[in-house]
Amino acid sequence: MSVPERLVIGTKNPDKLAEMLAVISRAAPGIEIVGDATWPDVDETGETLEENALLKARAVVSATGRAAVADDTGLEVDALDGAPGIYSARFAGPDATYADNRDRLLERLGDRDDRAARFRTVIALVGPAADPVTVEGVLEGRITRAPRGDGGFGYDPVFEVDGRTLAEIPTDEKNRISHRARALQALVAVLTEPDGRSGGF
Ligand code: IMP
Repeated sequence: MSVPERLVIGTKNPDKLAEMLAVISRAAPGIEIVGDATWPDVDETGETLEENALLKARAVVSATGRAAVADDTGLEVDALDGAPGIYSARFAGPDATYADNRDRLLERLGDRDDRAARFRTVIALVGPAADPVTVEGVLEGRITRAPRGDGGFGYDPVFEVDGRTLAEIPTDEKNRISHRARALQALVAVLTEPDGRSGGF
């Protein structure tokens, strides 16, 4: 079986790092996670989540010489033709807070009834001498008419799944069902495939 022996988790977000570390080390205990790597910040200039995830993972590989994973997430709202998508973090402008972005989203949707939306996470796995692999996870839901709940972050208070917003769901439950969790499960499947797609890392 050829999987990376060492893997850098290419995120500077401590919550994402903890979640990815927990899932990967539980599912693939043979992989040593490198926790003290550093790399320069990357401009997310890609036109898709996949391009941005690859840009980030490649930057980590260039800086460290080791295999790396990096993710990018977007919220896609059907009535807004898929916006904010790759612009989710800066929907209300370059220095927008989470609340600014939520307010802008609710304002753009107004009282429309079509509020279907999904979170999509793409994770890229890149090695110094192997073809990159990307996987994705999707969580379907709808945008509420007003924020609800105190948990989570970002768009969680306005994103509802089966009657509860992600901000009303306990963190451990969110981390089991979320778009990021689903992408991570797909990543783990690749990392643990015998002689599979992660060969050559
Ligand atoms: P990132 O690419 O993962 O940093 O995500 C881009 C933006 O999407 C963030 O700034 C958040 O606003 C939003 N986002 C990402 N993941 C989540 C989530 O799990 N819940 C709510 N919002 C999220």
